Amino acid sequence: MCNQQTSVSPKGTVVPGGFGRGFEAKAGQHVTIVDLEGQQAGDFVALSLADHEEILSPVHTRRHNRSIYLGLGDYLVSSEGRPMFQVVKDTVGIHDANVPACDPTRYAVDFGVPGHRNCLENLYEPLAKYGIDILQVPEPFNFFQNGPVSPDGRMGVTDPVSRAGDYLVLKALMDVACALSPCPQDIIPGNGLVVTDMLYAVTDEAPTDATLEMLQCH
Ligand SMILES: [Zn+2]
Repeated sequence: MCNQQTSVSPKGTVVPGGFGRGFEAKAGQHVTIVDLEGQQAGDFVALSLADHEEILSPVHTRRHNRSIYLGLGDYLVSSEGRPMFQVVKDTVGIHDANVPACDPTRYAVDFGVPGHRNCLENLYEPLAKYGIDILQVPEPFNFFQNGPVSPDGRMGVTDPVSRAGDYLVLKALMDVACALSPCPQDIIPGNGLVVTDMLYAVTDEAPTDATLEMLQCH
């Protein structure tokens, strides 16, 4: 299939495992995020291009959806309570909206590994040009991350159930700047102990299966 790709075919952009990338999407466009090899969590944040202080907010989203989970058709809501994205396709159905991005303290304090790559800095680097401080990086949605919550309220993190090629499609409902970090966690389960690449694409139409095949011909 890949050798049939033409110059007008949609192209995805690979984000190396453990690193971060930023991109923009206009209202009405579709953001596709693909777990290329499986079992890879990707931390995702966004802010409004019209007002950089209006950010994608897991806490407002949980209130809006009255759920700690995320599913097909759900809206992802901003800090102003406005819908920022809608989940329009999802081949996995298990994502996390409850825990922060891994950051320098997570590795230095919890694991005794200072200087480890981390999602917070991965997300901050591409967003810095919008004039925000690292402390203003929004709380993430952790796509494909598997954080089961038991009936007594205890939270866990285990390996994602996503398999190679699984994907999520978000329809942007306002003009946004986004950042994606395939999580560099390689010390405890969370990414199958192997950090791998992810892919994103921004397209006008929701991708069809054929489009997704082309997207992965990177
Ligand atoms: Zn992380």
